[in-house]
Amino acid sequence: MPKRDSVRVLLADDELVSSRKLASMVKTWGYEIVVVNDGNAAWEVLRSEESPRLALLDWMMPGLDGPDLCRLLRGRSGPYVYVLLLTSRDGKDDVVVGLEAGADDYVTKPFSPLELRHRLNAGRRIVELQEKVEAQNEEIRSMARRDALTGVLNRGAIFETLGVELTRARRERAPIAVMMADVDHFKRVNDTHGHLAGDQVLRAVAERLGAQLRPYDVLGRYGGEEFLVVLPGCGVSEAEEVAERLREFVAATPIVAEKNAFTITISLGVTSVERVVSDAPEPLIAAADAALYDAKHAGRNRVCTAIEPAQGPLPGDAPRVGAA
Ligand code: GH3
Ligand code: MG
Ligand code: MG
Repeated sequence: MPKRDSVRVLLADDELVSSRKLASMVKTWGYEIVVVNDGNAAWEVLRSEESPRLALLDWMMPGLDGPDLCRLLRGRSGPYVYVLLLTSRDGKDDVVVGLEAGADDYVTKPFSPLELRHRLNAGRRIVELQEKVEAQNEEIRSMARRDALTGVLNRGAIFETLGVELTRARRERAPIAVMMADVDHFKRVNDTHGHLAGDQVLRAVAERLGAQLRPYDVLGRYGGEEFLVVLPGCGVSEAEEVAERLREFVAATPIVAEKNAFTITISLGVTSVERVVSDAPEPLIAAADAALYDAKHAGRNRVCTAIEPAQGPLPGDAPRVGAA
């Protein structure tokens, strides 16, 4: 959601003259105001994603009234809207009905502007506190998906992403490619210059890989010095080109870590599926891993491709005879 400087308030009131006066007053208190003149229009605004988080709702309105709107609001999921009911009634029961329906507070007409201003400010504090908590939750969710050392997706998150992308590829009948990249002789960096240098090299490799990918490709740390890349929409030859580009880019210039320059190379295993029929990530990972093994054994600093991993029978295929 875009960050706004001023808090927005929805004002729903069917009495045009008083609503106009109220709107201009609320504006002078530093709020941005959205005005509607009946309950149904108020609900249209409140149910939209861009709804203000503070609402001043008249109790009596044509269509949905204030308590109706509160009940609808509290019955749906989505961001919390703080509701102040405007009521001309003063019987105790009515106030109870309004609060029971889900209103947070109320003011009785005719109200003192100062009182309304302070009650609105109290609502604003609640809304701002809630937004802060939401932002922190989002931050925590995002951190839980990241690898602490390199900042790329962690193992769990890249696995999950691969699953999601496989489902999408199957639905859209699009190809998908996966590659596994492993730093060559990485142990030597640790052994000769220590783990801090090793860590810096890993960070730099992750950064270089990320810099060469398209915005919709996803990079994750699979384990130690192994990275997994998911390339939605990529056929095998395109994936091989990307892998070759990554390989060249990592090797092109030395990585400086702990005042030493390291010439670092990576080996890559590539695989791709033209027609996805299974959402299981394991066969692709196993195929990319096997290709990576080939690249290591062929001398490292190179790209090898696996034959397309088995995806099971396609719907409508004749049953296979004998073992695969
Ligand atoms: P190869 O070319 O066959 O891949 O050889 P290699 O030395 O890169 O592979 P090997 O699997 O023998 O060693 C990987 C090393 O990576 C061992 C492990 O200590 C190190 N490593 C794993 N995670 C980290 C990390 O987070 N930081 C550092 N500094 N080292 C790590
Ligand atoms: Mg390695
Ligand atoms: Mg390894």
